[in-house]
Amino acid sequence: MTNQNLAQFKSVFKAENLKITPQRLEVFREMCDSDEHRESEKIYLALRKRNIHVSRATVFRTMDLLYENGFVSRMDIGDGKWRYEHWLDCSHHDHLICIRCGRIVEFFDPEIEKLQEDVCSRFDYQLVRHSHQLFGMCKECAD
Ligand SMILES: [Zn+2]
Ligand SMILES: [Zn+2]
Repeated sequence: MTNQNLAQFKSVFKAENLKITPQRLEVFREMCDSDEHRESEKIYLALRKRNIHVSRATVFRTMDLLYENGFVSRMDIGDGKWRYEHWLDCSHHDHLICIRCGRIVEFFDPEIEKLQEDVCSRFDYQLVRHSHQLFGMCKECAD
């Protein structure tokens, strides 16, 4: 977690009248310091492993707050659980998802980005956002 991350967290939470508790701060730190795409339960377990005492409910609630305030992004890969990733200092990317082990890999392909702009203009659409999820099997699972 950079000082800038922390400053942003504090100013947004203050502006929204949200309490800045040590627990919420730890959840935020956990998100800042990881590039993984994890569900709340996994984030909770990671905190416990680091001996940080935060209740499951606090983790789940804090993830909602972080999402609502633009600190994390989340995606649904079809199993009804949100996968969260940090969103500050993060540039746009899409995801490859292994259907066997759940591994998530990020990619960015300028040609795909360009193609979807082309598709949008063909249909007179202004592209606001998109998300690509490619489902398959990672090398280890396919072997
Ligand atoms: Zn796999
Ligand atoms: Zn990602």
